[in-house]
Amino acid sequence: MTDTPTQAVEESTEEPAATEPGDNPTEEQESGIVQAPILLYHHISETIDSQYNVHPERFAEQMKWLSDRGYSTITVADLARAIREGISVPDRPVILTFDDGYRDVYENAFPILQKYGYTATFYIVGETIDKAGNLSTSELLELVAAGWEIGSHSMTHTDLNEDDNWEYEIYNSRIILEEKLGVEVFTFAYPYGRASDAVRSFTADAGYTAAVGLGSIMDHDKYDLYFLHRKEVKSWYELDFFEEFLPWKD
Ligand SMILES: [Zn+2]
Repeated sequence: MTDTPTQAVEESTEEPAATEPGDNPTEEQESGIVQAPILLYHHISETIDSQYNVHPERFAEQMKWLSDRGYSTITVADLARAIREGISVPDRPVILTFDDGYRDVYENAFPILQKYGYTATFYIVGETIDKAGNLSTSELLELVAAGWEIGSHSMTHTDLNEDDNWEYEIYNSRIILEEKLGVEVFTFAYPYGRASDAVRSFTADAGYTAAVGLGSIMDHDKYDLYFLHRKEVKSWYELDFFEEFLPWKD
């Protein structure tokens, strides 16, 4: 105990957290940490040759692996609620997310998830709804009816650290999705996983309860709400590699 460098202020007193919209400040949760891997996919297709595409058979294998080990899916909105309000989550929670709104997710991943009673969070780029290769409004509504969360992934998929049209990209994209789908939109995914501190606080002010980026941390708490880590599943991941970044393996 000789040198006391920057004494651990990190976890100190000064936090009664900023404004948390929709937060119910009644009871403080003991730890406030929720462990849940968040996986990120883009395309699920037999034909696309890209690291962003997972073959449907491989995807089915991964979902079976999760199901055999008792994983339950929750959405990102559920995770935010659990962190904010201390609502409990099922055992072995996993969060499946899909970015960009590709139609092959609806065609190929949706039926596989249905088979296991799984749901997902789908991050949609506002301007691409109803465009070729992307989901239509009625397909999105089918997913909503099946329990999926629809989140925003901006209007044009721009890098928000470079393009400061945040009002349109972050705020309007939420409003447009809500108008089209008639449901509340709770969470946001930063394009390219890029978000400065200013982007993050704009996202909080725009009414989202949480936002996701990239990374591999699986223990989430309230300080992470506007940059929850997601682990991308790439095309070439064999099952034994997939297993490696999941916390419950038996
Ligand atoms: Zn994207």
